[in-house]
Amino acid sequence: MLRSLLLLLHDVTDFFLPNLCAACDHQLLRGEACICTSCQMRLPLTRFRNGWDNPLFRQFAGRARIEQASAFCHFTKGGRIQRLMHRLKYANRPEIGLRLGQLYGHALVQSDGFPTADLILPVPLHKHRQKVRGYNQSACIAEGLSQTLSIPVRTDLLSRSRNTASQTRKSRFDRAGNVDSAFHVVDPICLQGLHVILVDDVVTTGSTLVAVAETLLGQVPGVRVSIAALAFARA
Ligand SMILES: [Zn+2]
Repeated sequence: MLRSLLLLLHDVTDFFLPNLCAACDHQLLRGEACICTSCQMRLPLTRFRNGWDNPLFRQFAGRARIEQASAFCHFTKGGRIQRLMHRLKYANRPEIGLRLGQLYGHALVQSDGFPTADLILPVPLHKHRQKVRGYNQSACIAEGLSQTLSIPVRTDLLSRSRNTASQTRKSRFDRAGNVDSAFHVVDPICLQGLHVILVDDVVTTGSTLVAVAETLLGQVPGVRVSIAALAFARA
């Protein structure tokens, strides 16, 4: 009885507030969440065979000591992923990140390494930007991954400051010892000896992830870092 009432309520709500696919704007069917089945099947998956022999991992060679790197989809101009990412970042649609993170988690669950990690850390936004947007899109993706992989996510252990001005004012000597002071580990002891998955939305050159990884590796004894990006745009 309650179930029938809930289904009826769902249909009535749909009539007034149509539940549309975030990628193609067609009506979602009952049981579909955020992205329709047809769009899900057409996502441009990278299908990287593993986390250590793929183009994204090779981008980090010689730049940061990464355990593994993986990306869920290719980022192509005008494609579904670009549309989804744009809405996730600029149209107040955090649920898109959550859903894509869940789907990505299903793809990673069979992989080596990722499912046995200890903690998921989204790349932080500067707090001013997060306040304007209302959320950190990488944290939404991280939450979806966390739900599927059953690995906890922490959003309070890394912080980010705006550093462009201070970085340029620094001497070359300072910069050499401090790759990118934009990132800071809030509680290094808490992360000691753990294998963490750093989560980002779209990776192009990888310089942000290199900066976060270097900060972690430099400040936390025994930490191991892997990277999970939702989309990979070849530079
Ligand atoms: Zn669709």
